Amino acid sequence: MKKQLDSIEFDLSSQERRELWEQLANELESFYAKTESLAVSQPVDTSTVRAFLDSVSMDGSLAPRDAIQHAIAGLSQFAVHTPHPKYFGLFNPRPNFPSILADAITATLNPQLAAWSHSPFAAEVETRLIQELCSRFGYANDAAQGTFTTGGTEANLTAVLCALNDRFEKFSTDGLAGMDRKPVIYCSTEAHHSIHRAARTVGLGSQAVREIATDDSLRMDVQTLEATISRDLQDGFTPLMIVGTAGTTGTGAIDPLPKIAAMCRRFGAWFHVDAAYGGGAALSDKLKTHIEGIEESDSITFDAHKWMSVPMATSVFLTSKRDILAQTFRISTEYMPSDADELGVDDPYSHSIQWSRRFIGLKVYLSLLCFGWKGYEQVVERQSAIAMYLKQQLQSENWHIRNDSPLPIVCFSHPSIDAPNALEELLQAAYKENVGWISTYSIRGTACFRACITNYGTDETHIDEFVRQMSALRDRVGIH
Ligand SMILES: *Cc1c(COP(=O)(O)O)cnc(C)c1O
Repeated sequence: MKKQLDSIEFDLSSQERRELWEQLANELESFYAKTESLAVSQPVDTSTVRAFLDSVSMDGSLAPRDAIQHAIAGLSQFAVHTPHPKYFGLFNPRPNFPSILADAITATLNPQLAAWSHSPFAAEVETRLIQELCSRFGYANDAAQGTFTTGGTEANLTAVLCALNDRFEKFSTDGLAGMDRKPVIYCSTEAHHSIHRAARTVGLGSQAVREIATDDSLRMDVQTLEATISRDLQDGFTPLMIVGTAGTTGTGAIDPLPKIAAMCRRFGAWFHVDAAYGGGAALSDKLKTHIEGIEESDSITFDAHKWMSVPMATSVFLTSKRDILAQTFRISTEYMPSDADELGVDDPYSHSIQWSRRFIGLKVYLSLLCFGWKGYEQVVERQSAIAMYLKQQLQSENWHIRNDSPLPIVCFSHPSIDAPNALEELLQAAYKENVGWISTYSIRGTACFRACITNYGTDETHIDEFVRQMSALRDRVGIH
């Protein structure tokens, strides 16, 4: 006789699940529809957050509907609301609705993208998306490849690894220890610090990163770059890679990409463009002229979770160098399916730092199926127009504009709040009075405010209110 195993409680009935989906849909739709009525940010109080966590226990005693309520209440009360139309922050978008559904679909069907044969639909979708993005950036279709990554940080790390494998034939077996030359990475002083992180992660160390000074517009100064490379060559270093940033995190500056491309050719360095944010310009015919030269690069980082308005962690690494991803990452093992060659496909795990992988690309795919590239073009151009409007409104209230990016990032200040504590005081008042969420950034030693239009729903009314309230605060806080 068969012995009956103990039954376990690790699922809910179909009826209960349906009710929970419905509850969840109602609560999430309510957040989505009413995001604007929430405060964009709230003062941080560590003990209140912890007390909120203490109100439940992880022993399975909470009814599922209360558990859902707990999670949504916690996130509603204790978070900066990046999907708020007055979040003028750090590139975090309001995710578009189809891309939100994509995450729910991915979590439920949980496709495994390590091997192509486990998820042919998902793998082919990502391949198509990579091809589409490569051609948007001007890469020749037959040679370009790429991989979805969790973020720009992973994409930049992938770039450094590809450059090392491309320039040092035995890197994958002998590593840094087998090198007779010291590789150096060049980027501007305004570049994102994930470049330094990548240098540390691969074992080059942050001293292998040369920060090149910038010009008046905070773009890499190519003459300084040239002089630094020449000095390094004399000192026995090898230029491994030059990173051009297309849209710096601080001010949206775009490095002179064609000139950097020429330097890379001259010195045999890998040309990487960190377009984590500014790559969004490629979505618009009007804006893409600003990132010309990107098509000459060996690789590109582009974060869809910034200007493509999809949930985190959605980014791509693209390369115009066919086979470099396989050269860098391919490992054969017995425990993985080995049918990729027969099928004439690439297994995603052989092209990526990641192994087990979620279906990252579905968020972008569903967005495109519903809104198309045309929809993206409209969003990107509208956000740029709103930033232009913000700039004008600030100027008419006598604010000084401190950057001149074609991308929707506006840095501004005023002499009456130039003292660091005055700026900080105004910032805290702006948070407290729910004027909006902005950050501060220091340009050539003087701090200013930084506002980025990252939400497809931000309109002129939000800007009018924001500028009016900021100006009133300045008059209250500033030194006259
Ligand atoms: C945001 C950003 C990064 C880092 O990307 P994550 O997605 O946050 O990992 C790298 N470079 C630039 C220019 C960025 O703006």
